[in-house]
Amino acid sequence: MDDRNFRNAMGKFATGVTVITTLLEDEAHGMTANAFMSVSLNPRLVTISIGENAKMLDKINESGKFAVNILSEAQKELSMHFAGQIKDNRQIEFGWINELPVIKNALANIVCKVHSKQIAGDHTLFIGEVTELVISEGAPLTFYEGKYGKILS
Ligand code: FAD
Ligand code: NAD
Repeated sequence: MDDRNFRNAMGKFATGVTVITTLLEDEAHGMTANAFMSVSLNPRLVTISIGENAKMLDKINESGKFAVNILSEAQKELSMHFAGQIKDNRQIEFGWINELPVIKNALANIVCKVHSKQIAGDHTLFIGEVTELVISEGAPLTFYEGKYGKILS
């Protein structure tokens, strides 16, 4: 098994796409992520997994809070932007929930404070306790076999 095999196997798991956002020293930061899951209803917990080289790692470690923004099918460019796949210095106008930046028009903005964390290999799993939720109608952006897609109806 090599890394490409591993990624090919993981890529068979179709996911949605999120942008994780946080705020540190009055500066908003966003990062595309598909490693996200719901964990517990009581208390309400979710998990994200952040790579050791991602700038987002130190920012969440220091801020102690983050939002998970579930992208709609219309937000593929935003996903590419926050994954560093488009380099165009674009200005993003964030929405705000309780002084945390969030992605406008996402299908859901899930605002969390860090409950606990676990370093796992070259990633850190952050478990977040959900403090605020905003839900919108729409269809999701998907990621499968390393490619973006939509749900066909
Ligand atoms: P940077 O690379 O510096 O930032 C990412 C991009 O966002 C840059 O283009 C930057 O200009 C822009 N940006 C950030 N903040 C702002 C702002 N305030 N205003 C305007 N632009 C801004 N990595 C993981 O660790 N975990 C995952 O679950 C994960 N899932 C992914 C899923 C997909 C579908 C893809 C394509 C990538 C995924 N990645 C994941 C990789 C991750 O998105 C990239 O490695 C990303 O570049 C890491 O971001 P960073 O925090 O290091 O910040
Ligand atoms: P890919 O074929 O690399 O991704 C397929 C699947 O492999 C992903 O959905 C994810 O489950 C897994 N994966 C990929 N890179 C990983 C990593 N570094 N750590 C743990 N799991 C990983 O798709 P792609 O189009 O080549 O991805 C674009 C970029 O985004 C790559 O640089 C990739 O490393 C990164 N990415 C990172 C993660 C992550 O860190 N969890 C997830 C997805 C994509």
